[in-house]
Amino acid sequence: MSTPLVDVREETFSVLGSTREQLASSIAAVARPHGAGRHAAVTTWTISWEVVGRVARVCAEIVVVTPRWRPSRFAPVELLEEWSRFVAALRAHEQGHVDLAVEAAKALQGALDALPRADADEARRLASSILDHARGRELRYDADTLHGARQGAVFTARRSSA
Ligand SMILES: [Zn+2]
Repeated sequence: MSTPLVDVREETFSVLGSTREQLASSIAAVARPHGAGRHAAVTTWTISWEVVGRVARVCAEIVVVTPRWRPSRFAPVELLEEWSRFVAALRAHEQGHVDLAVEAAKALQGALDALPRADADEARRLASSILDHARGRELRYDADTLHGARQGAVFTARRSSA
């Protein structure tokens, strides 16, 4: 059994401000459209594959984009703490997307490795079924977590009571 190649790239975008309100509106201004809503972070992935002779190669390319804030020396400690809590929750949510993509790549690798002989049609059928299934799971993951909101990945101008 071979393992798929997994390439995870981290990217950031800058968020500016020195108050909670400024940070919240800076996030809102640059938040990416993602599925049904706008999201402060986004993970995209593509899985490519090929079967040459009896060797199947699968590669997952994953890009995780999260916000980065460089606080001034005068930023209040409370805001620093709120920011790190938010970013940690956001990262945990995005990690869920990464895990789904890696799982899909492994499932595809396993399925292609198990093909008794090179059969391009069967390989294509397996790939599209495994990748469709993964996209479906990803949609459910975002629906279940409200794009991470239920995992605490929310940064609002007002202090939440939770
Ligand atoms: Zn998400």
